[in-house]
Amino acid sequence: MRSAGRIVAEVHAHMATTVQAGVTTADLDALAEKIIRSYDAIPIFIGYPNAKDGGPPFPASLCTSINDELVHGIPSRRRVLKNGDLVSIDVGVLYKGFVGDSGWTYPVGQVNDEAQRLLAVTEDSLWAGLAQALAGNRFIDVSRAVQETVERAGFAVVREYTSHGVGRKMHEEPQILNFVPDRSEAARTYPAMNRKLAPGMTFALEPMVNAGSWRTQLQDDQWTVSTADGRLSAHFEHTIAITNGEAEVLTKL
Ligand code: MG
Ligand code: MG
Repeated sequence: MRSAGRIVAEVHAHMATTVQAGVTTADLDALAEKIIRSYDAIPIFIGYPNAKDGGPPFPASLCTSINDELVHGIPSRRRVLKNGDLVSIDVGVLYKGFVGDSGWTYPVGQVNDEAQRLLAVTEDSLWAGLAQALAGNRFIDVSRAVQETVERAGFAVVREYTSHGVGRKMHEEPQILNFVPDRSEAARTYPAMNRKLAPGMTFALEPMVNAGSWRTQLQDDQWTVSTADGRLSAHFEHTIAITNGEAEVLTKL
């Protein structure tokens, strides 16, 4: 998973220097696929099944989501980045049977104050969650740290999409909320939230944070998820491993 994670991080390092006004999201996708395949790794998003029956599988190596889009945006020649945009880039790689998964939101040129603050707070919330990802803590401790960081800043954590276990498959048990559900909801829907973290567990911690309401909507392409109110969203994700000390970030160079 470390090796898979390093390839994902390598892709992000290239994204960070390539994202600029005039570049299309299809350009980013082509570059990412080239890098991933150069390591004999597989871009795991291509062909990923749609959550909806009969929905189309995902057609690209990257998810590229612009401004009010938070996740699962489809790269396109027609989507040209412009100054002031936010673009969230999600990378998933399968290497020697193991998965690395990391998403990052990049500013295009100069972005406005709210966008800057949203980026800072969303990334902070990832690190706050990670700081609680300690053996002996419960999943809910991670969720709480993420949510508190976001809400203290006046933003909202997305609820319909979550963090998740990861390993040989991209999405493994458990589903990990980025917020604390009320007790009845938690017991009914998310029984794993009270489980304790233990060394060797690996998961993808990925707060998605909206400037306005937490509500989202699925676009007609059956993939792209946008904020319901049209306001900005940001997404920061690392694949991490629980150890006897601090969590190890696997999707870094
Ligand atoms: Mg991801
Ligand atoms: Mg993920």
